[in-house]
Amino acid sequence: MSKVCPVSDNDSSEVFDLAVIGGGINGCGIARDAVGRGLSVILLEQGDLAQGTSSASTKLFHGGLRYLEFYEFRLVREALKERETLLQAMPHISWPMRFVLPHHSGLRPAWFLRLGLFIYDHLGGRKLLPPTRSVDLKTDPVGVPLKDDFRKAFEYSDCWVEDSRLVVLNARDAADRGADVRTRTSCDHAERVEGIWRVTLRDVDSGAKTTIQAKALVNAGGPWVDQVIQNRLGINMSDRIRLVRGSHIVTKKLFDHPQSYIFQNADGRIVFAIPYENDFTLIGTTDVDHEDAPENVTCTPEESDYLRKSASEYFKRPIEEADVVWTYSGVRPLYDDGAKSATAATRDYVLKVEDRDGDAPLLSIFGGKITTYRRLAEAALEKLTPYFPKMRRDWTATEALPGGDFKYTDFDRLVTELRIAHPWVDEVWARRLVRAYGTQTRALLEGATRKSDWVRRLAGT
Ligand SMILES: Cc1cc2nc3c(=O)[nH]c(=O)nc-3n(C[C@H](O)[C@H](O)[C@H](O)COP(=O)(O)OP(=O)(O)OC[C@H]3O[C@@H](n4cnc5c(N)ncnc54)[C@H](O)[C@@H]3O)c2cc1C
Repeated sequence: MSKVCPVSDNDSSEVFDLAVIGGGINGCGIARDAVGRGLSVILLEQGDLAQGTSSASTKLFHGGLRYLEFYEFRLVREALKERETLLQAMPHISWPMRFVLPHHSGLRPAWFLRLGLFIYDHLGGRKLLPPTRSVDLKTDPVGVPLKDDFRKAFEYSDCWVEDSRLVVLNARDAADRGADVRTRTSCDHAERVEGIWRVTLRDVDSGAKTTIQAKALVNAGGPWVDQVIQNRLGINMSDRIRLVRGSHIVTKKLFDHPQSYIFQNADGRIVFAIPYENDFTLIGTTDVDHEDAPENVTCTPEESDYLRKSASEYFKRPIEEADVVWTYSGVRPLYDDGAKSATAATRDYVLKVEDRDGDAPLLSIFGGKITTYRRLAEAALEKLTPYFPKMRRDWTATEALPGGDFKYTDFDRLVTELRIAHPWVDEVWARRLVRAYGTQTRALLEGATRKSDWVRRLAGT
């Protein structure tokens, strides 16, 4: 494996094994995996890490119950297995969550829901998360906020994840292992020169341009993947990407228990209502073909109304416009499989290698889920193995992300230990610190005896 080294021309450019375009979850996941296998890696992100789709998700590690209806068994099985692998590798930023699926008498029959959940429970080899249970909404506290028409529900498991933190921790780990992670650095142009990629980078603040070289190029541009291929690399593309916008509304807290709801809509879609940041409820998402540029994405009034109406079909108290405190929107970069509707378009990932008969390879990533990012990275590196035959084997399934080296059931113990060691840290703050930094919180607070020490440390003064 080559180390990063200057080349002999006057360009002061460096040669990397891999240049990765895109600091979303897929780019950062691939960079981490690759550097851990011994490749020299540079990662280029034109803005901030996770500034694109990877901070605008519903924030679930989930199998995707509704994909069963579209026969996406491969994707669902892989995602279900990943939930537990990821939960164990990052128990600070991810935790188990229970989802309540009320039976709606006008929609899917109860036996159909139960069957779907039976498959969901068994398809992915669930070991840690509790199984599905039936819920009597007349007696269970989760029935209290719902209209009286709803009597029966099923409750199943998935996991929550802090999506943007997930991206940052992958980038952090990649950098700790030797990757060159460059934010606010755009890949402006890349071309193959004498069998190697020559990549022009632009510092988006100063406008300064530099050149590096790479033996392989990974295009993890998410919703910009086709723009990178066509505009930055000048390559004609046969594969098509389908941009599908998804929006969320955040309302004042609508219920007090820790479970989330998954509501069925008359249009066949589902909408989640999830406890969010202690005082709020997160409701989403929509599925709308996005015709505009990926960076021009906001929740339209129609989408906000749709989400309020969908959830109000179930909640006793209708959700008013005034309850909405914030909205956010992201664009799914889906592989265009020709599906009729945005809802039916595949959520599975597609990896394409182009190497013009043995030339330096370009690997482009289409689609994918936050949940499958680690497996996607493994699949990406498998595709690149012929070009780097000495590359080490896969390793990320059992390696914790920074701060994640503890058991997910020990989270409360970590918070208690922190409060004993630092009594000036209150409970809410302690939980927030352990959620962000996990076991690294100890080192971060080392020597601090009051809040102002910590604030000064953060400010670097
Ligand atoms: C509404 C919604 C809800 C979702 N919910 C879930 C969920 O609950 N669970 C789940 O598993 N998945 C979910 N997903 C899917 C998941 O969020 C995406 O699949 C994933 O975030 C895509 O990551 P990415 O790295 O491919 O793209 P991005 O995160 O968009 O990253 C691409 C990056 O490339 C950068 N870039 C582009 N061009 C250049 C260039 N020329 N130079 C340098 N950088 C460049 C961009 O700035 C961007 O940061 C959801 C998606 C949406 C939209």
